[in-house]
Amino acid sequence: MEEIVTGAAMRAWSDRARAAGRRIGLVPTMGYLHEGHISLVAEARRRAETCVASIFVNPLQFGPSEDLERYPRDLPRDRDALSAAGVDVLYLPTAAEMYPPGFQTEVTVSGVSGGLCGRSRPGHFKGVTTVVTKLFNAVKPHVAVFGEKDYQQLAVIRRMANDLDTGIEVVGAPIVREADGVAMSSRNAYLSADEREAARCLSRALAAARDAVATGTRAAADVLTSVRAVLDAEPKARIDYAEIVDVDALEPLEHIDHRALIALAVFIGRTRLIDNTILTASNA
Ligand code: AMP
Repeated sequence: MEEIVTGAAMRAWSDRARAAGRRIGLVPTMGYLHEGHISLVAEARRRAETCVASIFVNPLQFGPSEDLERYPRDLPRDRDALSAAGVDVLYLPTAAEMYPPGFQTEVTVSGVSGGLCGRSRPGHFKGVTTVVTKLFNAVKPHVAVFGEKDYQQLAVIRRMANDLDTGIEVVGAPIVREADGVAMSSRNAYLSADEREAARCLSRALAAARDAVATGTRAAADVLTSVRAVLDAEPKARIDYAEIVDVDALEPLEHIDHRALIALAVFIGRTRLIDNTILTASNA
């Protein structure tokens, strides 16, 4: 596996790969990798013969009181995992290279960025879309793979890739979970043993939502009552948001007519975790 640090070297590599007729798949990450990330690499490799993974903890997408400074890092382990997964190039830009003095450009997607995490984390998606644009321009992928774990991020990037005529195919990959249902996340490393146990309430709450829909509940407010009951029963949990929205524009729904997304953001102690699932009203 080759390692590339500068945008110029990355673009040169990409131009050579394209000239040789190879399709390029990109998997952007912030490192501290787990099976969820590796599943994205596998998906990228199914769709392109060369795979680039990036690791960059992007300061632009962290709020002033968020966890940028303590975000977990383990580059040697990540390197081994990506190399074993068959990644061809690890792109490792530095913050100084990404945002040199004088940098003053932002990429903003309105609408779909506004609710859910966009409301709780002002400026977050602007940071994401700006860095992903830079990664797209450096790597010049044919296809880029993102996890449904960050469902809103995937929707925002899809919108951006389409609106800006990038020609890049944005692919979503399913959420990978631990055996007990907890969605894999680099931030799970922050949890104490008790908090890790408490974190199970998110997937349990999503299961309660699916059960409610399966037994005929269609009013979003009623589904959310069941969801909040599960989360409120966990003393270590504090709800940031629990919402039912449509699967594309992510606008709040009152009624689940066919398919809907239920999205959760919940603090377990100081750690903010997100999770989601699609609700399907089969007999609607
Ligand atoms: P991150 O390193 O947290 O920025 O995540 C990088 C990519 O991995 C994003 O597209 C995430 O949606 C995806 N990802 C993170 N956790 C999971 C998971 N448990 N299952 C599937 N994809 C994930």
